Amino acid sequence: MKKYHYKDYEFEVVDYSSKFDIYCQSEFKEWLKLDKWKSFLSFQEALLDEILDLGFNIDGKFNIMIATKGDEFKEITKTPYEGGICDAILGDDVFLVFDDLIAENCICENIPSSKKKMIIHEWAHMVVYKYNHKLTHTLNEGLADLIPLYILDYQNFMPEYVEKLKSLNIDDIVSVDYIDENTALDDDLTVCAQNKHSYLSCYLFVLNIIKNIEIKFNKSKLDALLFFLELMRKHEKHHYEVISEIIDLSLEKLKFNEFQIDALEHI
Ligand SMILES: [Zn+2]
Repeated sequence: MKKYHYKDYEFEVVDYSSKFDIYCQSEFKEWLKLDKWKSFLSFQEALLDEILDLGFNIDGKFNIMIATKGDEFKEITKTPYEGGICDAILGDDVFLVFDDLIAENCICENIPSSKKKMIIHEWAHMVVYKYNHKLTHTLNEGLADLIPLYILDYQNFMPEYVEKLKSLNIDDIVSVDYIDENTALDDDLTVCAQNKHSYLSCYLFVLNIIKNIEIKFNKSKLDALLFFLELMRKHEKHHYEVISEIIDLSLEKLKFNEFQIDALEHI
């Protein structure tokens, strides 16, 4: 049995399905055979498939990690959250982390679009990381919202969210530099999580990039996203410079809050 170590934790790697490798502590291994875990995981697979059915140029399985709710979950995900679903990058390894009680707590059927969107956001991170797991925080969070909200049209079923977006003005926008700098440190994720407009700002930033690519290259929204992801795969760093060149906008203007507000025209 393959083992994986992170800090003081030891995980066994379970070859669960053609899509998932599951990293869990040995005492949790038997749980995966229980009906509640099976149905929880097949629900996760169905949500992931909503993204994969769009057609991405990626391969390999997705890593799921099960961490004990509380300090262990916080330590692994490097967030202030005690449990739930959260992506984690440990060295060069990428995981979607679930707390050990999630199969009990997560309702898998008839959940509202907003809740489904939140889980698809996490899977969208996992898909994007297969292209590049070293993007800035703004690009990562923006892409993870763009895929469900815009590419999969979830925003059509979330009128309250769209109203909220439309009510934003330039003072509500958090700048790209602020988001990137304030989430570079693990503890500062708290700051970002408390500032409810930072996620909206990330989404508007990436939405406007994709809209610019659609218009400039006469592409569909999906093709514009795929083009953008391939571009990010090719470039290890300096992503904002690459974007500014491709959409023909100075780096200054790209990073100015006005660019995010301009995206509202497209909503
Ligand atoms: Zn996220």
